Amino acid sequence: MPSSRPTKIAVIGSGLMGSALARAFAAAGHEVAVWNRTPAKARAVGGGTLAFENLGEAVSGRELVVVSLSNYAAFSELVSSTSVAAALAGTTLVQITSGSPADARGGLEWAKAHGVDYLDAAILAYPAFVATDYATVFYAGSKATFDRHAETLQAIARNSVFVDEKIGSAATLDCAILEAYYGGTLAVLHAAAMCKAEGLDPKAFFAQKNSFLGLISVTADAAQGMIDRNDFSGDQCSLNTHVAAIEHIVRLSTDARISARFPKELLENYRRALGAGLGEKELPAVFSTLKQD
Ligand code: NAP
Repeated sequence: MPSSRPTKIAVIGSGLMGSALARAFAAAGHEVAVWNRTPAKARAVGGGTLAFENLGEAVSGRELVVVSLSNYAAFSELVSSTSVAAALAGTTLVQITSGSPADARGGLEWAKAHGVDYLDAAILAYPAFVATDYATVFYAGSKATFDRHAETLQAIARNSVFVDEKIGSAATLDCAILEAYYGGTLAVLHAAAMCKAEGLDPKAFFAQKNSFLGLISVTADAAQGMIDRNDFSGDQCSLNTHVAAIEHIVRLSTDARISARFPKELLENYRRALGAGLGEKELPAVFSTLKQD
């Protein structure tokens, strides 16, 4: 749907994500300048965007500047140019480059020193999902700045979530979700490898997707309450029993000569909780041992 208030936007970075973001803003009726280190990629964005070869000119006079680069170091390098920094003064910069909370704090510090309003953001979507219901963007920073641009930012993701004024909060939530995603995905892939190594078609495992995802969901809900109360007692299954189950996974992996690195790492983490005297507690008790590292 075309925006009721067309905004002058610049998108810095025409990689896979930056290109998708720029096209989504343009499709929503905004006036979009694009810039990329390798100019041919900026010219290829299309969708009604205007490619610039000079970064200062691309961002000059723009209300909103959206950054999507490989990392924050690339951003720091670009804005170390005094003419670029001067051209950004007075704009709102939305950093959608993935990073850590410390990166976000560094970004805010730079922005404050250069008269730039700053939102730190994290996108949870593949480029193909940008602008759809399946894209979520987390925002952190000044709520007033977010509110001023919320309607415009809606063009890139139907789910725009303001997390907190703490500038690192969007990156924190992104890292938390990504850890669950990457860790969970590795577990799923290792599980499929175990099936294959034992001559069981991995399809038999994938057919049980709802049961293992359901189990994780129930455990996450229980963990939330237990962490909140700092009480991990229960009457369902002790950590001692869980650890015995993980030992079977290590044994299977070793016997079947597939990598046992992942289950061994699991075992080490859960055993550490037994060492801390939590063997009779429920599974989420491991949480209380994590801050010791
Ligand atoms: P990409 O296709 O590899 O694009 C990287 C961009 O960064 C390119 O525009 C590249 O310019 C630029 N760049 C790298 N180093 C630079 C430097 N030193 N100076 C100037 N420009 C530099 O990566 P992407 O997939 O678009 O990812 C961009 C950001 O989105 C990352 O932070 C990523 O974590 C995040 N993200 C991506 C996805 C995804 O599914 N793709 C999902 C969520 C978040 P050149 O073209 O000149 O190399």
